[in-house]
Amino acid sequence: MGPLQIKDILQTSPENQSVTVKGWVRTKRESKNAIFIALNDGSTIHNIQAVAEPGQFSAELLSTVTTGSCLKITGQLVESQGSGQAVEVKIEDILVYGTADPETFPLQPKKHSLEFLREIAHLRPRTNTFSAILRIRHALAFAVHQYFNDGRFFYLHTPVITASDAEGAGEMFRVTTLDLNKLPRTEEGAINFKEDFFGREANLTVSGQLEGELGAMALSKIYTFGPTFRAENSNTTRHLAEFWMIEPEMAFFELEDNMDLAEDFVKKVITYALNNCKDDLNFLQNRLTEEEKNKPQNERSIPLLEKLSFVVDNPFERLTYTEAIEILLKSKPHKEKKFQYPVGWGIDLSSEHERYLVEKHFKKPVILTNYPKEIKSFYMKLDEDGKTVRAMDVLFPGIGEIIGGSQREEDYDKLLGRVHEVGIDPQNLWWYLETRKFGTAPHSGFGLGFERLVLFVTGMSNIRDVIPFPRYPKSAEF
Ligand code: ATP
Ligand code: MN
Repeated sequence: MGPLQIKDILQTSPENQSVTVKGWVRTKRESKNAIFIALNDGSTIHNIQAVAEPGQFSAELLSTVTTGSCLKITGQLVESQGSGQAVEVKIEDILVYGTADPETFPLQPKKHSLEFLREIAHLRPRTNTFSAILRIRHALAFAVHQYFNDGRFFYLHTPVITASDAEGAGEMFRVTTLDLNKLPRTEEGAINFKEDFFGREANLTVSGQLEGELGAMALSKIYTFGPTFRAENSNTTRHLAEFWMIEPEMAFFELEDNMDLAEDFVKKVITYALNNCKDDLNFLQNRLTEEEKNKPQNERSIPLLEKLSFVVDNPFERLTYTEAIEILLKSKPHKEKKFQYPVGWGIDLSSEHERYLVEKHFKKPVILTNYPKEIKSFYMKLDEDGKTVRAMDVLFPGIGEIIGGSQREEDYDKLLGRVHEVGIDPQNLWWYLETRKFGTAPHSGFGLGFERLVLFVTGMSNIRDVIPFPRYPKSAEF
């Protein structure tokens, strides 16, 4: 498929054969005896070293070979003289496709801060860190599709534009073609959305779940994997305004089956990354170690690969919300009033509570179930006690909630009761409610925020650094 890439060439045995390599210059180094050019084309974290003799090329040409410039180099593939690489290219010819003026090209061979790199998101894929993250992100996405395909789940494309504002998962972005300077009004003076493109209010979706359930009621097992939008003004390291969500939905799955699936699923996709992204994971692991080397031993995090293997090899801890509250009430930070938010049955756990359970108490991923109905969505199945619902949240170290899911209420009357209770107009959801009228079935599903998974696997600490072009409050530049 196309010309050989650097990844292929690095694995070729050197027999002085002629090769062509194309890529971007990472570094150029001149010594008395040779000129070394490190070239990278993104196919791997590793550069290929190309070597020229002093005087072989004009000073004018060499002055255009700078960090960031794009080259085509032809030469011979030879065994490397130096350490650090098995092969190198003995340069015969250099063609400069594109220069990168060192006066203005912002990426220089030194450490740039992640904050700075976010400001140059158009160029940051050319750094080692971001190319590694992007390759891992790709591998995880591939593993997601493979996992579900192997399990006979069908990929359902749910709409990005939605008119059902009932899900309540988050604040929404309005979709409209109305002229904001001349809004049509009803007789009462409200905005007349009948004149809008869809003849009603429309928004970007916060979740594909409701439509996903329609698919599961026909195909048994479906999953969605698409962009999701939340206008929540939460400037955190775990929230984006645009993120990708994976939402499997399964007929005939009860809460237990749902938990088993969620646990197996995350373990399998992480295993795929461990098996297929070794070089990139190693690079990121070393990067983290380097970053933490000035911290005292007890404050350093466990090495990335160890952390990932630990999650894959150990069963997740499963307990109910009520049990979790009891643990928190007995905890040291609660007794010493170290938690910022109060603990008590009925609270929506905040991330400090989730992280205490995962990182301090159990020291492994946790699945919490059976939350109070008041803090969960209307569609979750009521438990016998009428107080809690069959919800499950999967909590990960360093992240908090990575998955939110539940068994769904399949009983028409109970579901309608909940719709009224939370103040949703059933008219808006007539099609969703009909699934419970016509051939209803027990069913379950969950949502995994893809970027939170990538965050965990790459060991990065800000979600804005694991999506190519992040969207967050006041930022949609690229
Ligand atoms: P949180 O409490 O962390 O905001 P949530 O309860 O709003 O999460 P859900 O509505 O259950 O989350 O969505 C399912 C999953 O989608 C979450 O477990 C998380 O992995 C992911 N997710 C939710 N909101 C965001 C966001 N703004 N950016 C990135 N991922 C998100
Ligand atoms: Mn949220």
